[in-house]
Amino acid sequence: MERWKPIATTDRQRTRFDEVLHYPEGLYELGNRIYAWMLPNGCWYESNAGLVVGEGESLLVDTLADLNLTGEMLQAMRPITQSAPVKYLVNTHSDGDHIWGNELVPDAEIIMSKACEEESRELKPAAMTMLGKTGGILALLPVKKVKKIGNYFHNMVAPFAFNGTKVRTANRAFEKEMALEVGGREVRLIEVGPAHTRGDLMVHVPDAKTLFAGDMLFAGATPVMWAGPVENWIAAMEKILEMDVDTIVPGHGPVCDKEVVSQTKEYWEFLKCEAGKRFDAGMSVKDAAYEIALGEDFSRRRYLQWDSPERIMTNVHIIYRHQKKRTGHLKTAEKLNILRKQALLAYEMPDASPASMRTL
Ligand SMILES: [Zn+2]
Repeated sequence: MERWKPIATTDRQRTRFDEVLHYPEGLYELGNRIYAWMLPNGCWYESNAGLVVGEGESLLVDTLADLNLTGEMLQAMRPITQSAPVKYLVNTHSDGDHIWGNELVPDAEIIMSKACEEESRELKPAAMTMLGKTGGILALLPVKKVKKIGNYFHNMVAPFAFNGTKVRTANRAFEKEMALEVGGREVRLIEVGPAHTRGDLMVHVPDAKTLFAGDMLFAGATPVMWAGPVENWIAAMEKILEMDVDTIVPGHGPVCDKEVVSQTKEYWEFLKCEAGKRFDAGMSVKDAAYEIALGEDFSRRRYLQWDSPERIMTNVHIIYRHQKKRTGHLKTAEKLNILRKQALLAYEMPDASPASMRTL
């Protein structure tokens, strides 16, 4: 991250989860008229966005989780976008922390993959507000287990303001690959999902050897798989490793290079193997996730040092789901059920970050 310097920073000293900042928050110049807005440390909803600038126009990669965050970012980008207005807004996937600021870029053409466009209509900002509120109430109850779950949900959502957000989805959708010209520059959109979500895509700028990987990469944080199969995620990592890129902006965490891609690939290969063994032995998702996460191998591989290691619960669940040939979309009730188990696992990893989501 030392290679890349911020050109405008906010005065924030702690993250939204009250952790020490690992790098400054703000707008980074990555060279070749490419910029990234970085939101440390890349925990829940602390997502990154990007700007590719051509002659007289630019392309924005993702907006942020809420209107406050997105507004602050667009303001910092204004000196650049004044002479190169945002013509295209590409959303890397449908999660709220990458699309819920879209309404603040009303003049841009919004581009998503077809699967992302479909999924983006299903997720409602108000549901997240409700989850946070319900969590707050549960956290007050005298039953320890319920208190833990409530605290986890409440603190996940508390730093953000989703109310009043209108979801603005795609004007144009594509499948597999699409090329765009942005003020004389070639930009390639590459669909690699379903993996993290149903319609993940990456944005490649060949002339700058730069890739915006969306949530196919979490640098310093644990990746989370809502869709899968895990084989698609591993294949996407192999694809990046073969690409001629040296600057990679992950969906969460600091700007990185292919080292993080290799580490991510190793994580998924490790989990595929370990979860697969336990599936074959008839172990439950919960028992498998606990055994792997609290095992020696997991800590030796330093996965406990990645933010939110408890996401292994969701990841094992999805690996099992595909093993059982259950390929239908994850419904809200199932998702909440996984998150409930994930919340309780978080308290078994007291030294991991963010601390606020694992301590009472
Ligand atoms: Zn994200």
